[in-house]
Amino acid sequence: MSKLTPQSKDFSKWYNEVVLMADLADYSDVKGCMIIKPYGYALWENIQKALDEKIKQLGVENVYLPLFIPESYFKKEAEHIEGFAPEVAWVTHAGGKKLEERLAIRPTSETIMYHTFAKWISSYRDLPLKVNQWANVVRWEMRTRLFLRTTEFLWQEGHTLHTTKAEADQMVLDALMMYKDFINDYLAIQVLAGQKSAAEKFAGALYTTGVEAIMKDGKALQMGTSHSLGQAFAKTFDVKFLDQDGKEQTPWPTSWGVSTRMIGGLIMAHGDDRGLILPPKIAPIQIVIIPIWKDMAEKSKIEKYINQITKQLTDVEFKIDWDDTKSPGWKFYQWEMKGVPLRVEVGPKDEKEKQVIIVRRDNGEKEKVQFNRIKDKIAKTLDDIQASLLKINSEFLENNTKNYNNYDKYKKDINEKNFFALVHWCGDPKCEIKIKNDTKATIRVDSSKKKKGKCIICGQEANTMVYLAKAY
Ligand SMILES: [Zn+2]
Repeated sequence: MSKLTPQSKDFSKWYNEVVLMADLADYSDVKGCMIIKPYGYALWENIQKALDEKIKQLGVENVYLPLFIPESYFKKEAEHIEGFAPEVAWVTHAGGKKLEERLAIRPTSETIMYHTFAKWISSYRDLPLKVNQWANVVRWEMRTRLFLRTTEFLWQEGHTLHTTKAEADQMVLDALMMYKDFINDYLAIQVLAGQKSAAEKFAGALYTTGVEAIMKDGKALQMGTSHSLGQAFAKTFDVKFLDQDGKEQTPWPTSWGVSTRMIGGLIMAHGDDRGLILPPKIAPIQIVIIPIWKDMAEKSKIEKYINQITKQLTDVEFKIDWDDTKSPGWKFYQWEMKGVPLRVEVGPKDEKEKQVIIVRRDNGEKEKVQFNRIKDKIAKTLDDIQASLLKINSEFLENNTKNYNNYDKYKKDINEKNFFALVHWCGDPKCEIKIKNDTKATIRVDSSKKKKGKCIICGQEANTMVYLAKAY
């Protein structure tokens, strides 16, 4: 079997290999598209399940709109089409004929959503309107990476409309905090949540907020975004409502989304030189049981014993690896690669002494557990792993975020190593472009730390602090 490239040698190579070797996904013959394999899809389903619940708690209902968007809708919002045009795939022929109007394969659904909302909304009583769509979208990317940037990807897109700007602003924040909580609680990843600069905002939005995480190579990954769309989309698509005084008003929309990209984040935030490390709350298999036997007599005893053990495992996802063509050592290697949080080894001695050996994937700790303590011990260890992964990632973010006020020093350091920097920025796009050109790092999000200072680039008064990092 081939060996995984160490992270320290080539992080990017490690990433590509681990995706394939852990059996999450594979390349497709259509450039930039991805085949998500059962293990990778089970991971996505767990993400979906947990997040869908949180989305519904915000009073949002699921809908489904068509994959195809007529060109005439798409062209209506000028800034939006300008931002997305280079990435849009068009259907020009169907049913053996040239179409009268080209159809865009959705890169995002604002235009078709707003066209539809115009028919759904007439009164303030129809607001707030809150819907979410789980779907695939297509953006024709030039440089692709499995999960991180693929031409077709899976996501959810929430779309809401409100009577006031204040209510829409609150929704943008609620969605962002929902993502932060989900990413903390389930993916065990810490994030910086804040507003994006004008240059990094969603095409057509008033402003964009996002959550950014640190990967093990010190680079940033945008894990999700939440946008206030202002009133431009609603006006363009003629979405109007009559307020309580019978006066015609334009609603305030928001949109927000996360995608299969999060799986890329999960891999790079926790994985190590042995492969994936999955947080128990999101792992498709939480425990793998490895029976160890020499002959059939031993096997049958162990089988009986494992039956008694699994009766205790009522609320965990487990798998017993009975494959008799592979050695225990090979199985250890394989399940470590797939990031299963906990391994339970059961051999003849364990059967005799009514115990098992449990081994943690995150830190390799090995422990003997008596039969009557298995259920409690496993539940507690899974909780410990979940908490420990978040703690380690949070500390990594903290230890790799540095304050800078000298631009030359920053330039020198960021060229040598990847990390996050917290700096003052005057808000001028020219300073932002200079940072990007000089260092390849970009402004990820602003910080709530609003103390006054001098812009790290131009030295002008600045009352915003922003996080800089090189990003995926
Ligand atoms: Zn400046």
